Amino acid sequence: MEKEYKNTIVKACRKMLNEDLVKGTWGNVSITDGKKIFITPSGYPYDKMKEEDIVVIDYKGNILEGLKAPSSEWKLHVAIYKARKDVKFILHTHPIYASIASVTMEVIPSLIEDSAMICGPEIKVAKYADPGSWELAENAVKALGNNSAVILRNHGLVNVGESFNEAFVSAKVTEKNIQVYLEALKLNREIFYIPEKNMKELREKYLKFYRQ
Ligand code: 13P
Ligand code: ZN
Repeated sequence: MEKEYKNTIVKACRKMLNEDLVKGTWGNVSITDGKKIFITPSGYPYDKMKEEDIVVIDYKGNILEGLKAPSSEWKLHVAIYKARKDVKFILHTHPIYASIASVTMEVIPSLIEDSAMICGPEIKVAKYADPGSWELAENAVKALGNNSAVILRNHGLVNVGESFNEAFVSAKVTEKNIQVYLEALKLNREIFYIPEKNMKELREKYLKFYRQ
């Protein structure tokens, strides 16, 4: 199982690099089994990442396995896993549209049904805090709520899921939803929103029936 977790993280790293969700070595990925956290090493190139580079830590940040330093955002990962027992996988990236939203917005409504389902009714921007701090971790948990996406002010994006695929699709759909919002704002026309009641139902439908 541990080998499988490490292999999933290596594949996730390649995928987020190939899909332009990150530039350089920024961003990080983790999986938890409920006791241990398997996480990417800090500042290490994604195209070189191998299973043996993945660091295993406990919920206090102690290194249990691995020769490299764990991601500098390990507190963010620990705080989310503690707050959300349904989350098994965390993807932190720095993609372009979430970055634009991180410097201009407070909250982005889910305008398209896939975002309403997988991300939740809205994507909030967490209050600014320095990278790697407990403050950033706390602000992110607060703004994440029960959704699967949260934006870090002047920084980037965090997506969570019960699998890598879910967190990854959440990241892609978040990017699409923000792009749609930004393009729609430029048209200077009325924007139609999903009614509140339907928004709630879409999220519930996704959590109960859609993901399989
Ligand atoms: P690490 O390389 O330490 O994981 O951190 C990069 C980053 O995105 C900080 O927020
Ligand atoms: Zn970051």
